[in-house]
Amino acid sequence: MNPQKRAFQGSKVRYLAGSGLNCLGCDSTLLLRSSMEFVHDEWRQRVTCTACSATWHNIFILSGIKITHKEETQHVPHNISD
Ligand SMILES: [Zn+2]
Repeated sequence: MNPQKRAFQGSKVRYLAGSGLNCLGCDSTLLLRSSMEFVHDEWRQRVTCTACSATWHNIFILSGIKITHKEETQHVPHNISD
């Protein structure tokens, strides 16, 4: 296992506990996240740290849903003049 991969393994638990907000390598919050793509039954998002150039993929698994009421998803502003 290369040194970077070993360091990442050691900080994985801390990374997940912090909701993925800090770099796995240097703990910076200066992370760039790609849009998510569906690969082999899971959603992946590439993350790059702009401080130390470390890169990795976040993996997302659907764990549940929250039903929203129609009025919560209505984003069209009301016309005040009507
Ligand atoms: Zn970093």
